[in-house]
Amino acid sequence: MVRCGWEKCTVEIRRSTLVDHLRTVHELDFASKTKGACGWNGTCKWIQASSLRKHFLEKHLDLPPVACPTCTSTFGRGDSLRRHLEG
Ligand SMILES: [Zn+2]
Ligand SMILES: [Zn+2]
Ligand SMILES: [Zn+2]
Repeated sequence: MVRCGWEKCTVEIRRSTLVDHLRTVHELDFASKTKGACGWNGTCKWIQASSLRKHFLEKHLDLPPVACPTCTSTFGRGDSLRRHLEG
């Protein structure tokens, strides 16, 4: 569980449902082309809405390493794992 840090929100939610929570409760439009301020703890700069999802997962949710399904390697980010699998 992780505590939502959006503005005054203190709801505890599962990491996997955070994006849904942000979208429904805080009305974030992840598909928007406009820039918006990240309201998480009020510490972030204005960022592109389309990159908000990634932003939250990388900056505000200390995600556990992603394990490779075919070997014992772990990666800090899904991107790295994808490259590993492709390479
Ligand atoms: Zn919240
Ligand atoms: Zn942020
Ligand atoms: Zn591997």
